[in-house]
Amino acid sequence: MSQILGGAPLPGPDATSNIDTPEVVVAIGAHPDDIEFHCGATLARWAMAGSVIHLVVCTDGSKGTWDAAADTGEVAQLRRSEAADAASALGVTGEVMLLGATDGELGLATSSSQELHDGLVGIIRRLQPDVVIGHDPWRRYRLHPDHRAAGWLAVDACVAARDPHFLADRGRAHRPSWLLLFEADEPDHVEHAPPGAMEVKVAALLAHRSQWRSTMFIDDNDDGTQRDAFINGVHQAAEAVGAASTSGPGESFKRLAL
Ligand SMILES: [Zn+2]
Repeated sequence: MSQILGGAPLPGPDATSNIDTPEVVVAIGAHPDDIEFHCGATLARWAMAGSVIHLVVCTDGSKGTWDAAADTGEVAQLRRSEAADAASALGVTGEVMLLGATDGELGLATSSSQELHDGLVGIIRRLQPDVVIGHDPWRRYRLHPDHRAAGWLAVDACVAARDPHFLADRGRAHRPSWLLLFEADEPDHVEHAPPGAMEVKVAALLAHRSQWRSTMFIDDNDDGTQRDAFINGVHQAAEAVGAASTSGPGESFKRLAL
């Protein structure tokens, strides 16, 4: 299996595919690049069809480097500008919100967790998405604490946003139709990733230049071989999803109705 899937379970032959193209989408990732990795082709396809896509990145990405001498403030600044470049590559016409929690500390029990949750409820109520996309917090044996924490934030904020008695001071209740969870423990849904959408996904991923070495395994002195291997891996991951689900190349999710 491709390293891009990271050992994630594949959807079975009974997986559903392609919900109706949403008008408004809010995608919530832990770090800059998580959204592009896990649902970049889906968002690209929807953006081409006219969906308004909003991106929420929970942390500042400040620890996303293998260079122990790096200034984490500078890393965060770089990642902020890369996130903007990736969003425009994806065709995002909505907002790109970087919530700025410290990378690696999203799940720690601090007062900021409550602020992030309540803020996310306000974002969902204000933007009124048909679809919310985020990390699956139930994914077993996942090591990165920020991915678990971002998953819980997305799930809990959706539940609070739809009920008028939750956080009544954060705007009028809004119920999205679907919550799609990526890196899912039990994926049961596929969104198709046609070639044009895959090209956009690759371009958006490569916009995260600071992650080439640590996440995409492309060295600074690469002659193009490692870059090609990474791009092939992205395509192979989409094909593996399609082969397992008989849906054609795509991105897999756990689909929950809200
Ligand atoms: Zn991440």
